Amino acid sequence: MAHEVRGVVATAKKAPVTVETITVPDPGPGEALVRVKACGVCHTDLHYREGGINDDFPFLLGHEAAGVVEAVGDGVTGVAPGDYVVLAWRAPCGLCRSCRRGRPWYCFDSANAKQKMTLGDTPLSPALGIGAFAELTLVAAGQCVKVDPRARPEAAGLIGCGVMAGFGAAVNTGGVGRGDTVAVIGCGGVGDAAIAASSLAGARTVIAVDVDARKLEWAKGFGATHTVNSTEVDPVEAIKELTDGNGADVVIEAVGRPETYRQAFFARDLAGTVVQVGVPNPTMTVELPLIELFGRGGALKSSWYGDCLPSRDFPVLIDLYLSGRLNLDGFVSETIGIDEVEEAFHKMERGEVLRSVVVL
Ligand SMILES: [Zn+2]
Ligand SMILES: [Zn+2]
Repeated sequence: MAHEVRGVVATAKKAPVTVETITVPDPGPGEALVRVKACGVCHTDLHYREGGINDDFPFLLGHEAAGVVEAVGDGVTGVAPGDYVVLAWRAPCGLCRSCRRGRPWYCFDSANAKQKMTLGDTPLSPALGIGAFAELTLVAAGQCVKVDPRARPEAAGLIGCGVMAGFGAAVNTGGVGRGDTVAVIGCGGVGDAAIAASSLAGARTVIAVDVDARKLEWAKGFGATHTVNSTEVDPVEAIKELTDGNGADVVIEAVGRPETYRQAFFARDLAGTVVQVGVPNPTMTVELPLIELFGRGGALKSSWYGDCLPSRDFPVLIDLYLSGRLNLDGFVSETIGIDEVEEAFHKMERGEVLRSVVVL
């Protein structure tokens, strides 16, 4: 039996999103039907609606969600109805060349639901294979990661995307550890999660860099030891000054622009690591002196979804939250209704919120 529920749909490029009645099928083999409790509004949702990801309109938006499994299809053993889960957009297949080499966190063939949710007769493209600004959504069972139900859904859902991306960029991709100096360029949700993770991992210096004084103030709340407003000072010089003239061991670029990438490149110490987690647009290029690429050594890395393994990492982040060491509540700027997503995009563009979270 199919279910008729409300969902937030982007029907055409740059058109405001609308709440529509969509049809969600019962789960088939390997699938799970999830009753969504809360879902954060992420920049990627806006990128979809702007046509910046692809042209497969209409999109069912939303992908940072926590909910409860309502039903599962044949052959599903990992989750059962009633389980409290955070949805992941990586569900390792176990079969691709990366999984087979023991690197499931890079899985090149992540699983999604096979059946389509629909708007009338038109198949919907769920954002990042999730589509969770909806009362019910259909995903691959492997996308459901069981976590401790004591974590409230408004906070728990955020580890499904932005928080995990930033946290993992620091500790999984950047390998931040005790005694490191870290700089984070761009202090939105992803950057602040990288700051929180660096602090938890024992970094001795965590420098937050942004153009917005309000965001720098928030960054301090997540563990930044120093802040740099790059509209006032040269961030490369400022980071060097704060690290005995050397630059940081790990610089995390959480903006996705050529100028901030160059700042990250030049603000790291010799043999240091740059982690790019900010998502650039397809037209951007960056030019760097080749001798500096060689001469500085170290590593230039990019981080896909924090190089996370959801089944390993989500429960850890939830436990850190429940024990008071990871302030997930600090990312929740406001809770909103399902019909307020368009307005939340505008607040996000104006930099007024870390996350608006739709509560269902
Ligand atoms: Zn795989
Ligand atoms: Zn996202």
